[in-house]
Amino acid sequence: MAAETKTGKKKKTAQEFEYKAEMKQLLNLIVHSLYTHPDVFLRELISNASDALNKVRFRMLTDTNVLNADADLRINIALDAEKHTLSIEDSGVGMTKEELVDRLGTVASSGTMEFLKQMKEAGKALDSSMIGQFGVGFYSVFMVTDEVVVETRHADSGSKGYRWTSSGEGKFTIEEIDKENRGTKINFKLKKEHKDFSEEYRVKSIIQKYSNFVDFPIHIGKEEVNRVSALWHRKKKDIKEEELHEFYKFVSNDFSPPLAHMHLSLEGAVNFKALVFIPEAAPSMFLREHLEKSLHLYSNKVFIQDDCKELLPEYLRFLRGVVDSEDLPLNVSREVTQSSPAMTKINNILTKRTLKFLEDLAKKDKNKYEKFYKNFGPIFKTGVNSDFTNKDKIVELLRFETTKTEKEELTSLQEYVSRMAEEQTEIYYLSGEHREAIERNPKLEYFRKKGIEVLLLSEPSDVFIVPSLNEYAGKKIVSIDKADLKIAPDEDKDGDKEALSENLSKSLIEIFKKTLADKVEDVIESKRLVESAATLVVGKEAMDQHMEKMMKMMNQDYEGSKKILEINLAHPLIKNLGKRIIADENDAVLRNSILQIYEGALLIEGSLTSPNEFVSRMTELMVEATK
Ligand code: ADP
Ligand code: MG
Repeated sequence: MAAETKTGKKKKTAQEFEYKAEMKQLLNLIVHSLYTHPDVFLRELISNASDALNKVRFRMLTDTNVLNADADLRINIALDAEKHTLSIEDSGVGMTKEELVDRLGTVASSGTMEFLKQMKEAGKALDSSMIGQFGVGFYSVFMVTDEVVVETRHADSGSKGYRWTSSGEGKFTIEEIDKENRGTKINFKLKKEHKDFSEEYRVKSIIQKYSNFVDFPIHIGKEEVNRVSALWHRKKKDIKEEELHEFYKFVSNDFSPPLAHMHLSLEGAVNFKALVFIPEAAPSMFLREHLEKSLHLYSNKVFIQDDCKELLPEYLRFLRGVVDSEDLPLNVSREVTQSSPAMTKINNILTKRTLKFLEDLAKKDKNKYEKFYKNFGPIFKTGVNSDFTNKDKIVELLRFETTKTEKEELTSLQEYVSRMAEEQTEIYYLSGEHREAIERNPKLEYFRKKGIEVLLLSEPSDVFIVPSLNEYAGKKIVSIDKADLKIAPDEDKDGDKEALSENLSKSLIEIFKKTLADKVEDVIESKRLVESAATLVVGKEAMDQHMEKMMKMMNQDYEGSKKILEINLAHPLIKNLGKRIIADENDAVLRNSILQIYEGALLIEGSLTSPNEFVSRMTELMVEATK
């Protein structure tokens, strides 16, 4: 199959080779199906050059006879925007003739071969939707050119130079050439429609996108175009703080220094390095935008994609930085990278490490942790409902204001439980719009008097998350908005705080029920009120009232449940009403007072919908009182 041609001054033999059948299919596919990502060719060529440089660097550790041992390890790119040519040259390990035949004459990855075989066996034709199933490698260059010339000389001291030429259409030739230095130079003229790849700005921007962290300098003419070093590959102790900040700026576009960072280098079921930052502040619009942002993904310092959502669960997407894994092959198709088993493993490990990191941060630097929590808590907390495997760890990381903390000061459930008195069997919370509003809620009266701590939930996501916790450390987590609290009645009532007699209480409650009719679910005696006459609570199964209000905001048609009115039988007003029923059950003042008590409780909950009636009834009562 060899054919002879004449080259250069010396007569040399150019041997001609046929590609194997699969190779032809593959080439055809690349040229005709990959048009949407032509710029990956440069990433592939640079990544090959970088591999070759790594190989020679490694070889030099043991072999003192390497060709051009003193040569700089670097990549040179030469562009001619007029002739529309591009060349990329490296001082790497080069290729022997056999390697040229083997490596550039067959499909490199065995996975690709396997895939093609399967397709053939299944009798299926290849189409563009399948191209993403394999990495393209060197052959991606045929997306942008009709003919490639590769000149190479292996790093062995006795090696010869060779020129490999192919138009990617079934044949390639190899001939011997004079080449002084080791390494490989790839040369081609761009197709008309891709001539912009011979323009410096274009090539630079592609390098900055894909190859900025490649370990070897990439030069275009005299200029070194990749100046950022891949920090995550360095040892922790060798990285300076300024470098970290600089790098953080680069990956996050955030110009203030990060709050904290985590640097991982893991080997095991999956190998990867990660350099991950917690931003100092939540960017504005954060809640809406966070879903689109994530870590950048690299494969051995070569950029694969930014905002790779599969690397982290949604509730951790406030993190910025990079993950670099050689276990994820370069690939044109994001879908393939995203669904690979290695990706799932990285996600799992990264999640666990991040939670551990946050746990340590909370212990080591409470201030920093609280800063993080205030900024990113709303998104972080949602992990409780979305990450079942790590739920317990996330719960430990939750923080709350309580009746025993100052405003803005936060406490954990663990700390809450450690402060509980022996007889307290449940963890209590109350939610509302903001701390002041919650603190005014009469439901807190009993707890305040008895010194029982109550979590005060005003952050909107807490309102949905805390009810779903159910329990912590074997203690039920309950809203004090509910009717059936396991609290002891308030016994220490002095003389004039004596409650109504049992009989009278029963009749009064009956009158309340009759008067309010279907406005309420029930009327019951309150164990928790101290100063107030009445309050509205919800049944065991119902949502608490603040949560219900938020549901109504989200869904206009949402009805909500009927409330239970709790009345304080020791309150002077209630006792006076008791006296009134003895006189006249149908007394107008009695009836109006009951309605007023009910609507007053609604008003405090922020749920009063008929202020006009409320005020006119109040006026009537005042007229009566001022007679
Ligand atoms: P991969 O990089 O995944 O092996 P490629 O198609 O990109 O697949 O490259 C095929 C092979 O060609 C490489 O494995 C390498 O042996 C060889 N090769 C390509 N470019 C170079 C280069 N610049 N220097 C030395 N060898 C190279
Ligand atoms: Mg490659």
